[in-house]
Amino acid sequence: MTLSSEPQDPLPVVKCVARARIPTTTGPDIFLHLYANDRDTKEHLAIVFGEDIRSRTLFQRRRGETQQDRMVRGAYVGKLFPGRTMADMDENLGMSLKFDETSGSLLVDPKTTWHNQDTLVRIHSECYTGETAWSARCDCGEQFDHAGKLMGVEREGDIIGGSGRGVIVYLRQEGRGIGLGEKLKAYNLQDLGADTVQANLMLQHPADGRDFSLGRAILIDLGISNVRLLTNNPDKVLQAEYPPYLQCVERVPMVPLSWTSDHDGIHSAEIEGYLRTKVERMGHLLQRPLKLHSSVSKSNPSTKVTTHTLV
Ligand SMILES: [Zn+2]
Repeated sequence: MTLSSEPQDPLPVVKCVARARIPTTTGPDIFLHLYANDRDTKEHLAIVFGEDIRSRTLFQRRRGETQQDRMVRGAYVGKLFPGRTMADMDENLGMSLKFDETSGSLLVDPKTTWHNQDTLVRIHSECYTGETAWSARCDCGEQFDHAGKLMGVEREGDIIGGSGRGVIVYLRQEGRGIGLGEKLKAYNLQDLGADTVQANLMLQHPADGRDFSLGRAILIDLGISNVRLLTNNPDKVLQAEYPPYLQCVERVPMVPLSWTSDHDGIHSAEIEGYLRTKVERMGHLLQRPLKLHSSVSKSNPSTKVTTHTLV
């Protein structure tokens, strides 16, 4: 595993290239941010809930650009409408952005820009099979959907939601960083009896080759400082910290839907083995016992969702 949680490690340089509003089929509009960086050529993303969460690099004024240029790349306040001419001011909503005249940097104004508040965050690694090909080998698609839902709602059970604000950082590191081709080979080894960790090691890959430093850089660029991190993985708490700029103030667990419901979530032998490996081999903080969904009822206290505040 690539663990680069030491604060002195330099972060990658990231730059938000474009931002656009995406109406969704399930809830509020989201703002999709596409990032370039100095470590790889992949198009990493941030899925942002809330118009006022602003990328510093996107909104930075650039030499020679016009207001139209700014609107086209998404560096506007409020909402676009036909005929709008000013990016930095929305006359309909009475909002305007302020900039440092010398540097062109966005000045943080609480009326237009979210800052210094606890923000629900998920750092998600791309999973083509789980998100697009309906795979029941892992719970990535379910976790992705659940994270988005929690960001839209005020609360769900014991968990306080984002009430329309939050960030899903979407990193292009398929298969714990080994790529889709190698991941498919690992699946064949799993069908031959290996678990997730063993299969990666047999293919000469680390059990987990992901690198979350880009995620930290993207969160800082978005002006996020206090993270409420949606994860069951204790290592990820460290991955969301970069003091003094970024800190994880709370870990919010994500209990698999299939553990609390006989109807929702993924019910398959593969997913049970996958979750078992996460807990037993990778230290995920899911509740034991691991006699999975068939024996777990809604009233079982072991499935109770709790949040743990870090000090
Ligand atoms: Zn997956």
